[in-house]
Amino acid sequence: MPINKDLAELPTEKQADRQRKGWPPDKPTIMTPVMDEWYEQYLKNEEHPANLPMAVEGASFRASWGGMCLRRIQYERAHADVSNLPSKADAYRFYLGHDMHDRIQAIARKVFTDVAIEKALKWEISTDIYGATHIDMVLRDAEHKNHLHPVEMKTTGGYQFKRMATSFQGPPEGPKFSALRQLALEAQALVEAGHKVARGSIIYLAQELVNPKLAADVCDDPELGKFTAQWDIGIDDLRQRWERQNHEFQLVLAAEEEGNLIPRLIPEFGNGRNTFVVDPIRRVADTIDTDDHIVDTHDAWMCDYCPFQILCASHADITKIEEVGVDG
Ligand code: SF4
Repeated sequence: MPINKDLAELPTEKQADRQRKGWPPDKPTIMTPVMDEWYEQYLKNEEHPANLPMAVEGASFRASWGGMCLRRIQYERAHADVSNLPSKADAYRFYLGHDMHDRIQAIARKVFTDVAIEKALKWEISTDIYGATHIDMVLRDAEHKNHLHPVEMKTTGGYQFKRMATSFQGPPEGPKFSALRQLALEAQALVEAGHKVARGSIIYLAQELVNPKLAADVCDDPELGKFTAQWDIGIDDLRQRWERQNHEFQLVLAAEEEGNLIPRLIPEFGNGRNTFVVDPIRRVADTIDTDDHIVDTHDAWMCDYCPFQILCASHADITKIEEVGVDG
């Protein structure tokens, strides 16, 4: 008997199955070979930062080491073997960040009539020991005549951006201390090159948009506030940060001269108190008081991005710092 009814409305067997189980993705058969090839290229092209030439010949520290744990700086300087390559997913995220960074710099070059991009400069750490940096952008300061204005630009994930720049989980946390240290060293380099600097800025670009209400709460321009934030930092604040950072670099130099492994000290985690990574694999850091009591514990998230994580875990756990005077 012929079927006269229109059956188009009835779910097919496959659709009925989807209704029961949802629609999970199929095996990534197309992207697996593509991303395998991309990752292989990425690892070949992405030279290890320790092997990249210094921005200025003769320098032996990088501004991008600002805020790093002192042990990692020691490994970087020693060109220690990398024990942890970035995962494919992390490499993908870094790649997007670098790509965005380059594109924005190219546009800034058109927008600002007087801008230096990736300006190479050095600063002095101690007698005849220099650090060097490429500053993302150096502008003429629009508010201070005859002053230069260093700008450090970072990209970050949407969740981090929400925490830093919006009231998502309480007051905005502000930029990462490592970015502040890097900007401070860049300001120092400009000052030592004879320029006047009244302030510097850190700009973050988010890789995902934040909710419009959150953006509107903290930013004058709610549309821009969905994906970018700027912090201006005065020269006095920057000077304190560069002095602190150079003191920490000097501690690394002192440990090297003595032939010692430096403690895994993470600056600023303990609000000026000594804070050490005690377990790099589980990324645990403890703040210790002068009687060696643990007064606080932190998530040492940076260990998961450290190319020396396994190497570091195989080396001694040193938390005695009196002899190198970390508290300055
Ligand atoms: S694994 Fe952590 S503690 Fe060890 S060097 Fe790297 S950042 Fe420092």
